[in-house]
Amino acid sequence: MITKETTYKKAFEIKKQTLNQKQKHRQMMLSAAYNTNPILKEIDSKLAALGADLAVTALSGDSEKLSKIRKESEMLSLQKKTILKECEVYDIAYDCPLCNDTGYVGGKVCDCVKKLANSILLAEFTKEMPLDDSKFENFDLNYYKNKDENRRMTAILKLCKEYVINFNPGTSPNLLFMGSSGLGKTHLTLAIVSGVIEKGYTPIYGPCENLFSLIEKEKFTGENRGSYEAMINCDLLVLDDLGAEMTTAFSKAALYNLINTRLLCKKPTIINTNLTIKEIETRYSARVASRLIGNYNANKFLGDDIRQQKILGK
Ligand SMILES: [Zn+2]
Repeated sequence: MITKETTYKKAFEIKKQTLNQKQKHRQMMLSAAYNTNPILKEIDSKLAALGADLAVTALSGDSEKLSKIRKESEMLSLQKKTILKECEVYDIAYDCPLCNDTGYVGGKVCDCVKKLANSILLAEFTKEMPLDDSKFENFDLNYYKNKDENRRMTAILKLCKEYVINFNPGTSPNLLFMGSSGLGKTHLTLAIVSGVIEKGYTPIYGPCENLFSLIEKEKFTGENRGSYEAMINCDLLVLDDLGAEMTTAFSKAALYNLINTRLLCKKPTIINTNLTIKEIETRYSARVASRLIGNYNANKFLGDDIRQQKILGK
């Protein structure tokens, strides 16, 4: 599972490595320059001596001598600079002038790290999921041939697009996508996930089967530490394919806790399921069903299985 913590950790590591490489490269070039130009060492000792002189003269108040020392010092510095330039020793060119690639500005995480973490997140998601195939642009309404179905699906597509446009982890509503398999629920939720990541937020997406199993392992074996907390705290949680997993006492409790805690924290969740509310009540519990009815914007997907239509070449 990809979390905010892991992507930020990676982003900081990358920044640190890049900066280290630049520093190492500069140090190498500098050593080479000193080796081939012994005069550099001489300039350094002259500069050091002038520096000491400067301090003493400043105290004595001899302004004429002071300006002479300064001039000499400037000339030596210029000479050194010219030699270093000839040896291709340059100041480090930072990728981010705001934080000089340290990743922090005024004790806060710099925007360059946030951007990097976000691109890592997107890359990780894309590795695991068909994000590129599941965009709003390639959601084909032509598969919904019946007029009412088409109207409904057009409205749902619009709702999903607006969900991304208006996304806010503190105020966005919860969505419940219902309907049979192959009607585009996963496609549209992945399109929402992409959009939310592009806006700089960190969602967690997964089939219920995988997410519940992560929580179970964390509880009983100590593996995947922090998974449950990440699911509770992420900007958007998407529980895909609720009902396809094997239902156990543990998964029932995990589902209720996830839904309920996120409701209490006012954090948005999207659930995809082939089940009806009645089936959810029977399979999980009345309290799960009532949380969904009271707090989720439910949308039923209509149409004929798109995967089958594609196979049959319709
Ligand atoms: Zn920066």
